[in-house]
This record gives sequence, structure tokens and C-alpha cells, in this order.
Amino acid sequence: MTPRITSSLAAITLAALLAGCSQPAPETQVQHTQFLAFGTLTELTLADVDEQRAAEAVQALEQDFRIMEGAWHAWKPGPVTRANWLLGEQRRFAAPPSVVPLVKVSQELAAKSDNLFNPAIGGLIQLWGFQSDDSTVSRAPPDPAAIAKLVAANPRMSDITVDGFMLSSRNPAVQMDFGAIGKGYGIDLAIDHLRQLGIDNAIVNSGGDLRAIGDKGGQPWRIAIRGADGNGVLGVVDVKGDDSVFTSGNYERVFEWQGKRYHHILDPRTGYPAQGTRSVTVIHHSATVADAAATALFVAGPKDWPRIAAQLGVDQVLLVDDDNVAHMTPAMAKRVTLSDPGMVTRITELPTLP
Ligand code: ADP
Ligand code: MG
Repeated sequence: MTPRITSSLAAITLAALLAGCSQPAPETQVQHTQFLAFGTLTELTLADVDEQRAAEAVQALEQDFRIMEGAWHAWKPGPVTRANWLLGEQRRFAAPPSVVPLVKVSQELAAKSDNLFNPAIGGLIQLWGFQSDDSTVSRAPPDPAAIAKLVAANPRMSDITVDGFMLSSRNPAVQMDFGAIGKGYGIDLAIDHLRQLGIDNAIVNSGGDLRAIGDKGGQPWRIAIRGADGNGVLGVVDVKGDDSVFTSGNYERVFEWQGKRYHHILDPRTGYPAQGTRSVTVIHHSATVADAAATALFVAGPKDWPRIAAQLGVDQVLLVDDDNVAHMTPAMAKRVTLSDPGMVTRITELPTLP
């Protein structure tokens, strides 16, 4: 069971670095509450909400996140592990209702990303030891033959058929892992829930990935983008209205072996950690799309990302490559302020799709 931090620890200031840093108008009351979810610190920021409604919202969202974490966990026994076992057995079975919407949206985004975002590679993620709470422990990388075998089996979300209530796969190698999209999908549901509760000015921030709606007493929310090394702030953007800001980086869940670093974003084409990119930040209305796209563009790398971004329909992208060059779309360049004004930047137009 994941330990939980209650609202009494709201004074912890880590998330203040990540979101909502600008000075509110004096009369605007901003409340921060933190708890653990999806294996990371999750922070709810509310502006202009009375205490009773804020307490209601915090309770509701803590419960939502607890349920979602259990429903989509990739390795703790639950609906996904059960479904994966039945998929591996080539069975046709009653699909867990909590999993079906994620399967469907993942199928769509996997197809649009040329399967660079591929949540069917759970077998590979497990082989690398990333389906573990101890994924940073030093260990030897997997046997190359075992990696090659899983890559050759070519598991894809399109191998899965959702037929009414039933789920099946034509490929026994398909194992679902929603690590690259679950947080985004969960944040979208959390924002829907806040709106149902009558809250229109808020940030839901899970480990630095977030969606912000409304504003802070008429002022935009100021959002910090995590640095490419996982520390510090790469830049800031203002959000007023509704936007999600998601970053995928090679600094999370990393282990070292014989002087080499291995991180957790795998290239489904090679079976090895994706090369050439340090971090990708995507801004998009939907947190689900932003999350999946950040992972897909990380895998696509400094050359291929514009085409995949166009296919995914995301037009605000910031990719930092291994040489520390910041590649940006014009729309991203317009709104981001980089912390290091001397950083080499390259503005790239997205291609028009045929
Ligand atoms: P984070 O959530 O840590 O910010 P991501 O959103 O990029 O990072 O998700 C990374 C996680 O997604 C990995 O830990 C793994 O579970 C899963 N994953 C790794 N590579 C891929 C991939 N190519 N497609 C889909 N999921 C992936
Ligand atoms: Mg992601």
C-alpha cells in the first residue's frame, strides 16, 4: 500500500517550484494540498474556493487517485495484471471496465505515433526491470537475445480487439503497461471531477506533470517546466484557460551498470532505451494526449519528432537533445521563456500531412 501524505503536510514547498509560482492578487486565496499517487507527489492547487468546498474536492480527488492507481497498476495484482495474464493465455475474456477506456485511447494514440508510444510492450518494460518500485537499483541490462525475441514478437495495441464487453489479443506477446499515459488520463478525469464540483480555477499536478484550468484571481497560472536533467527549471509558461504541460525525461527511473546509464523510455523498434533525447515537453489541452505524446516524441528523437507531433495533432513541443539544443515548434517558442537565455534553440515548423 502506498503511504499517503495528508493535507496537513500542505506546507511542503516542492510543488511550489513546479507550479503556480507567480504572485496572486492579494485577495485571491490559493490552497495547496499534497498526497502520494501514481508513485509520486500529487498536488492539488485551488484558487478562490471556500474552505468547505476545497476540503470536499481534496477528499474526492485523493479517493479518485487511489482508485485509479489500483485500477491501472502495471505490476501490482489488479485489473491490468489479470488482463495481461489472460491476454498471454490467448483467452477472450470480460474486459475490466476501468481498463477499456485506456485501451481504446491508447490504440488511437499508438496508431497516430507509428507505435513509438506503445503500451503493448509491457513484456519489454518488465524484462528491463522497470516494473518495480526499485527500478533504480544497479543491475545488468537484460540478455540481448531476450530483448530481440520480444521486439520480433512485435506486440501492438492494434493486436487487441475490444468487442463489446470482451477483450482478446491476436498476439500472445501483448502485455499492457499504461505507465506513459495513465497519469495523463487520470489528471483529465480529476479535472472533470473538479468541474462537476463547481471548481473552475485549479491545477492538478502529479510529479511535475499537470493540467491547469481557469486562472488565479484573473492572473495566469505560472508553470515551471522541469530541467532536462530532472533538476531545476528549464523554462516557464503561463496558462490561462485550460492546458496540460507534460515532460518525459531520461532522468527518471535510471539505473547504471558498468558506467552506462539505462533509462525507462524504451524504443519499441530496438527494445533498448531511446537515444538522442534528454527531455520532451508537450503542451496540449488534453493531459492524456500530452502524456502519450511526450513519450512518443522522446522515442522519435531530434530528427523525427516533427512528423510524429503533426500526426498526433500536438503543436506545442520543446525537445532537448543530447547536445542540449532546444528544438521547438513556433507555437511553443511563442509562449515559453527559457531559464537560460544562452541556450541554443532551433525552431522547426511541423510538416503538413498529406
Ligand atoms: P513519466 O511518467 O515517468 O514522466 P513517461 O510518461 O514517458 O514518463 O512514461 C514512461 C513509462 O512508460 C515507463 O516507465 C514505462 O512504464 C512506459 N514506457 C516506456 N517506453 C514506452 C513506450 N515506448 N511506449 C509506451 N510506454 C512506454
Ligand atoms: Mg508519457
